[in-house]
Amino acid sequence: MTQTVNSACSYCGTGCGIRLETDGQRIISLSGNEQHPTNRGKLCSKGRELHHTVRTHDRLLRPQIRTSLSQAFAPVDWDTALDHSAQRFADIIKEHGPGAVAFYVSGQLLTEDYYAFNKLMKGFIGRNNIDTNSRLCMSSAVAAYKRAFGADGPPTCYADIELAESFFIIGANPAYAHPIVFRRLEAAKEANPDLKIVVADPRRTDTCSIADLHLPLKAGTDVALLQAMLNVMVWEDLIDQSYIEQHTQGFDSILKNTQAMTPRKAATICDLKAADIVQAALWFAENKTLSFWCQGMNQSTAAVDKNNALIHLHLATGQVGKAGCGPFSLTGQANAMGGREVGGLSNMLAAHREINNPQHRAEVAQHWGVERIHDQVGLTATELFGALEKGSVKAVWIACTNPMVSLPDAKRTKAALEKAELVIVSDAYHPTDTTQFAHVLFPAAGWAEKEGTISNSERCITHLQQALPAAGLSRPDWKITTDFAVSLGQKLGKDWSDSFAYQKAEDIFSEHCALTQGKDLDIAGLSYAILDQHGPQQWPFPKGQIPNQAQRLYSDGLFETTDKKARFIDVKYRPVAEATDEEYPLSLTTGRIRDQWHTMTKTAHVPALMQHYAIPQLQIHPNDAKAYKIKEEQLVRISSRRGEVIAPAKISDDIRQGLVFLPMHWGEMSAKKGQVNHLTMIAVDPISKQPEFKHTAVNLECFKPAWCGMMLMAGAKLSLGREMIQGYTYGVVACAGSDHPVTAIELACTKPLQTKQYKRLDQLLEQGQSFETLSYSERKQGINRKAWLHDGRLVAVRWIGGDIQEAKWLRKLMLEGRDVGELRPYLLAPGGPVEKQDTKGKIICACNNVGELDLKSAIKNGANSLEKLKACTLAGTGCGSCVPEMKGLLKN
Ligand code: SF4
Repeated sequence: MTQTVNSACSYCGTGCGIRLETDGQRIISLSGNEQHPTNRGKLCSKGRELHHTVRTHDRLLRPQIRTSLSQAFAPVDWDTALDHSAQRFADIIKEHGPGAVAFYVSGQLLTEDYYAFNKLMKGFIGRNNIDTNSRLCMSSAVAAYKRAFGADGPPTCYADIELAESFFIIGANPAYAHPIVFRRLEAAKEANPDLKIVVADPRRTDTCSIADLHLPLKAGTDVALLQAMLNVMVWEDLIDQSYIEQHTQGFDSILKNTQAMTPRKAATICDLKAADIVQAALWFAENKTLSFWCQGMNQSTAAVDKNNALIHLHLATGQVGKAGCGPFSLTGQANAMGGREVGGLSNMLAAHREINNPQHRAEVAQHWGVERIHDQVGLTATELFGALEKGSVKAVWIACTNPMVSLPDAKRTKAALEKAELVIVSDAYHPTDTTQFAHVLFPAAGWAEKEGTISNSERCITHLQQALPAAGLSRPDWKITTDFAVSLGQKLGKDWSDSFAYQKAEDIFSEHCALTQGKDLDIAGLSYAILDQHGPQQWPFPKGQIPNQAQRLYSDGLFETTDKKARFIDVKYRPVAEATDEEYPLSLTTGRIRDQWHTMTKTAHVPALMQHYAIPQLQIHPNDAKAYKIKEEQLVRISSRRGEVIAPAKISDDIRQGLVFLPMHWGEMSAKKGQVNHLTMIAVDPISKQPEFKHTAVNLECFKPAWCGMMLMAGAKLSLGREMIQGYTYGVVACAGSDHPVTAIELACTKPLQTKQYKRLDQLLEQGQSFETLSYSERKQGINRKAWLHDGRLVAVRWIGGDIQEAKWLRKLMLEGRDVGELRPYLLAPGGPVEKQDTKGKIICACNNVGELDLKSAIKNGANSLEKLKACTLAGTGCGSCVPEMKGLLKN
């Protein structure tokens, strides 16, 4: 019997609603929830494919333990796993104190999971050493809201998108990172072409496709730009003096520094035109302006100041708490906001309480029935891994996140995990780059297999109903945590069973709601029943609240400070932490690409999502490419003071000269030498402790391998790819194709392959089966190629030597799943048939499999508008994520 349940997308902070149809064991169909206020039925390319990430070949299905990293894991039952890990945690606590253990959790957890982890660490273990990967994503926005408004209260809502007259987008690329928010922006612009859109970003991203003005500022100079904009507003008398006087404090104290930052001075610092800065300021102040920002502002050593400098523009023009305007920080992960609500950061307590506030600590202690909450803030993400490396923290439980890929300075993360006495990882997948360093693996239920809530960027809480039974022995994170808590209590001679005796997720939700009563995020009136009956609800939702009412915060001009006034903060422009110099003359920035999510543990399972960008590429300006003699697609060695990465060049004037870009997603498992965090540094904002990812000083040189090669295998076998690239200098794994997935591994090696390495490669490609084979070699040219066929179809290829571009048609042949027929003589030889020409190019539209060359050809043949291009290629008629790129092609 089929059943339909409501859920929400587990990727970005947009928080789109999803409907899942299941037969009780499998998801039969997935669609956008038409009733959900965020997406109204739409989903982006990632959300549409989410069901493919649930029952994958690498699901972690049972608990596993080992005593050292050199041993293999042994599967065990839950009782053994919990008993073993609780005993080891307890032993460490007894010997070294509770400060020697820590949790590192995730914005992908549901609010109920988050709450349980926090309660265990802060209430019962008795230290505050729990931090979350949200530290890397929005802790600077949290700190800035608190400085400005007295609380972490984002004032705006999505409904403001349709009411705004102008948008100021800085350090955000919603076209890639928050596509459904961007679809709403596109629709607003289409409905009102007079709407002004300014995008401030060192790169001309797809978000610029709807911009009236692009400010390609130099990386890290945001404060100078924002101060100069405020200066213009003051000079032009566009500020709201009465709002400033009645509802704010500190405006006079920032005037001196603000007025010193003239548009001309900022133009020099930011490398912009002064007239453009003036124009951006005028549009901002003369219209109802909604500003969006994300990691471009947050991941920086001056991030909190940048955030406050932007909030100043809204306070000075009285654009807070009103329809169609306000500062709107976009949250990165699906439940980053929920983590903030339960106090997931190491300096926070539940319901926007602070660890360094004695009354807040007493309130939480009373709610949890414990004597006290420790008064020292816990270790932040980078501090925690530093403490593991030094040995002051000896045990860590990592939940639902992959720090081996996501933390800056990967070498340091590896050293920290290797030094740890105990690493517990709870995850839905294994292996990941992080599970390799675990002593204990707890199998966690996947997104569709558990119940709970998430909160999106606009403070809107969605109830996720359970669609499927948990796979194997996996359990919801809150259940693993509470079972562990009871066991740990016993080992420590305490009875914590009553405090963690939850029967279901809603028991935790109710306890969380009660703890918010009387606070700015009061949701004491909320329940799963209300969410199911009335749909997602924004906070606050106090007792007696009528559903679907709450929208903006601070509409009455009263803030959460002691005198109810918002604060201006005297910020100053500070240059980036690691200056470029002769040795490392370029600046590297990192970010997302459209069809991948975080460290790819989910999206890499979806062949359709591997086609837009199959491998990490280095975006570089043509002048820089010329200076370094780098050609398109040529391999480049990018080095910093910490390590190196090798990636093919993508030459484009969409990036500033002097700046290069690498995507954040690939780890060593998916691209042996393509992990950007081998380059980044541990430099954090002094207030939020959020690390810098938007500037690293780097150098470049062409990478000249002894040979290049490509391995192709039918099927999506990322784990096999990982085994193959061990020991090679450079390897990139990519899966592609929906009906006939292909795993493609590109290799570039500095040493010739030995006979035993050829044998090993062939064994892996054959996978123990006996196929028909074809071979081709030219010893002098270093060419040694082999193909495996089954029923006339290619099932594997080993292509060593010569031009690997010539091998790419074989991948296409495999993706099509067709008989090689008359192409057989050409398969491995140089040259090859005419039809090997790639007629699609890079896949732009993942929904309808439309390539860049298809679109260019249609444009050449007269499809000179977006509508015509859509009609004749079908690109852009699915989720719409490719529309900005289609517009870019039309423009060019
Ligand atoms: Fe999921 Fe974000 Fe895409 Fe919505 S916009 S479907 S939440 S990834």
